[in-house]
Amino acid sequence: MPKISAAKGVIINDSRGEKTIEVAILSGDIETKASVPSGKSRGKHEAKPAEPEKALQNLDKIMRAAALKDFRNIREFDDFLLELDGTPDKRNLGANTTLALSVCFARLLAKEKNIPLYEILNNESASASSFPRLFANLINGGLHVDHDLNPLPFQEYLVIPQAHDPDESLRSVFSFIESLKSILVSRGAGERFGDEGGFVVSGVNPELGLEILDETRRIHDGNVDFGIDAAASSLYSGKDGIYKWRESGWNNEELARIYKWIAKRYGLLSIEDPFDEDKEEEWIGFMRDLRDKEESDLWVVGDDLTVTNAERIKNAAEANAANAVIIKPNQRGTVSETIRAADLAKQFGWKVIVSHRSGETEDDFIADLAYGIGADGLKAGSPLRGERLVKYKRLIEIKKSLENKEQ
Ligand code: PEP
Ligand code: MG
Repeated sequence: MPKISAAKGVIINDSRGEKTIEVAILSGDIETKASVPSGKSRGKHEAKPAEPEKALQNLDKIMRAAALKDFRNIREFDDFLLELDGTPDKRNLGANTTLALSVCFARLLAKEKNIPLYEILNNESASASSFPRLFANLINGGLHVDHDLNPLPFQEYLVIPQAHDPDESLRSVFSFIESLKSILVSRGAGERFGDEGGFVVSGVNPELGLEILDETRRIHDGNVDFGIDAAASSLYSGKDGIYKWRESGWNNEELARIYKWIAKRYGLLSIEDPFDEDKEEEWIGFMRDLRDKEESDLWVVGDDLTVTNAERIKNAAEANAANAVIIKPNQRGTVSETIRAADLAKQFGWKVIVSHRSGETEDDFIADLAYGIGADGLKAGSPLRGERLVKYKRLIEIKKSLENKEQ
């Protein structure tokens, strides 16, 4: 039963150069660390992070309250944080402060029990552990690209190897990138990158990213599917129901027609955030239409809609607004609430994709989480960027350690 004797935090820079926190906790002679990413296309309903300076002050306050307390498992520790914060969105302590501590505590338990982190996470989960498919964002658009580069309207054009084996999948993503480079060169596109390390393609036609991926798929040796994250909350103008990007604009019916067209033409596996986070009726209509046309094997993925919040997932599932979900620990602010949200989504028969944020650190926690809770996908950006690659490499490390155990 670990007691935390000290916690210290420092301010570091994330992959976008913005300030975030790294926290270390101490119990006896065990020290563990965690750092927290941050999003740019953030959902309105996410838990609220504190300014990094304030987060460090809050850390001291939490440590004073935790003095001499014992916590038997992650849930007990997280419940202590929830009670101390006392708000539904962590606005007192900050979801970044609570998440950093919660991840440190999970790592502390793992070290104390001398078992891997994913096993500690699996103990909290109702699911069996398994390897997720990789969702690699290879063409970046929307808010993740400098506006002057005239990015495509959709935020992410994802390449998803069919293999579940992380080693084989990562190799497939790297070889896809090589082919993609040659296609981009042949189209005269320069080598510019977005926040998640994907290539930048300029244009207003949202289909263009998929057209390029499809051309690449024809020369790529391996089986891959595609997905998109439209991140439609950041396109929604709030006026006359119009989604806007530069000189283009679509109402929800026009967008739905585009989605159905591209889903069929490119055999899409997934469409994330097709509509605004507060326009649930548009999601419900789209899902109904897919069912009527017997195309309901498309993953319609909630991110800003559901924000890793069990209550919002329940409402969306009961309303039939989606059939899959993005799970981002910092949208909620503790490890156990994150796992509970994923478990609930699975109970509704939804697919679960654990995800990074666009401003990342080198913390690889989400890889253990994805394997430990048996997620269907891990979305961690382009492996050309170190802070993304560490997540994919951690999955491979887990696989190797399991193989060694078997021998
Ligand atoms: C996303 O929208 O899925 C995403 C990773 O972006 P951000 O971290 O900017 O919210
Ligand atoms: Mg998203």
